[in-house]
Amino acid sequence: MRIHGTCAEKRHPDTVAYLQSLSADEAAVHPPLVRAHADGFTRYWLEDGEVRYRDITVAELPQPGGGLSALETLLSATREQFGTLLPKLTAEVGRPGPDLDSIERALWDGAYASGATALKAILEDLDRGLPSPFCANCGKAMACHLRDGKTFMTRLGPVTIEWTYRYCRDCKSGHCPLDRVLGLEGESHTPEAASLMADVVGDAGYGMASRKLANLAGVTIPPSTLHRWALKIGKQVQRFEQEIVEPADPAAPRLYLGVDGTGVPVRKSEVAGVKGKQEDGSAKTRVAKVLSIYAAERVHPKSGEPEKDPGSETHSGLIDSAAAVGGVSRGSAFAGRLEREIVRQGLREADEVVVIFDAASWIRNVCGELLAGRMVTFILDLWHAVEYVSAALRVLCPDTAERKEQLEAVKTELNGTSMRTKRNRLDASP
Ligand SMILES: [Zn+2]
Repeated sequence: MRIHGTCAEKRHPDTVAYLQSLSADEAAVHPPLVRAHADGFTRYWLEDGEVRYRDITVAELPQPGGGLSALETLLSATREQFGTLLPKLTAEVGRPGPDLDSIERALWDGAYASGATALKAILEDLDRGLPSPFCANCGKAMACHLRDGKTFMTRLGPVTIEWTYRYCRDCKSGHCPLDRVLGLEGESHTPEAASLMADVVGDAGYGMASRKLANLAGVTIPPSTLHRWALKIGKQVQRFEQEIVEPADPAAPRLYLGVDGTGVPVRKSEVAGVKGKQEDGSAKTRVAKVLSIYAAERVHPKSGEPEKDPGSETHSGLIDSAAAVGGVSRGSAFAGRLEREIVRQGLREADEVVVIFDAASWIRNVCGELLAGRMVTFILDLWHAVEYVSAALRVLCPDTAERKEQLEAVKTELNGTSMRTKRNRLDASP
């Protein structure tokens, strides 16, 4: 095989070698390859069984995604979708009592289907323009093995993309370059579809979430798929929370940390072997522990009351291991999560951390340990303060009417202390 051109093959001997290695069948369908170098770009292609190449300008670079072919595909898909549909809908709308619901739905479905066709064309264009990769194992150019189809769930519904699978004959392994470029390796949904699913699965059961997606987004995803996907994403979120801990500067000199724990009812299988408060020692609930970190430097322009700084709040929480309930629990899953969030939000760099809590000893202990050496102020929150006073009054004051009166007086006293006064006291405290 001869090589046509001057000196450029020295720039990319691997590309030339790769094109030369193709079988006649592969060479017949192989698209041109473009390689970048210090002086610009070179296009390599096969012609009459020979490798040819030419330096090209930026304007001559293939334009994946924006090519005329994708536009033509979209226009023809739109014509196909609406060409027969529109006259039918026009007839329908002209009848007495037209079915507007069906008309809107048909137009919606048509618009999505056209968009899906355009997305398919754009991605397949991109796939055809991608240069052939080199094997990560042996470094040789990977042959075009076959074109394959894979269906993705997208914002526009399912889209089947035909793409190239590249294969190393020596190492007997391969991959789809498009998969990698798009960050979709091992995925069955695009990020946009994933974002839709994430929006609904947190608020509703899988059946309801599936119906909401179909009704509001026009995307049909069965409940079983949502379930599988939620479990998979949940694991990724968990791993991300544990592995990515980037320290940041505190959002304000004084930061507030709210911590609480409460029993949440769970399925029987999830409390098997967990010690609880039931008479036989079993548990009906697991302890969910939550934390919230925020700044409150703003004041209301009229009342002067401090306000949570918008966007400063972060939340985290989990069902903690039974072993950690009530303990010092530095080694517990929740303490680990709290420590990571303390680092991420820069609490150890803040001048002061105000912990707002229910006075539980585990919270005081774990916050004290994690923020050792820092200025930490513990404040009993209003809700729990009233609860404790109420419990004490039940013992001290047998008369119901008097008890009610006393409790109201305490509530008024606690509520009457405005947040501004509390913060002034906080500012004045050593
Ligand atoms: Zn290889």
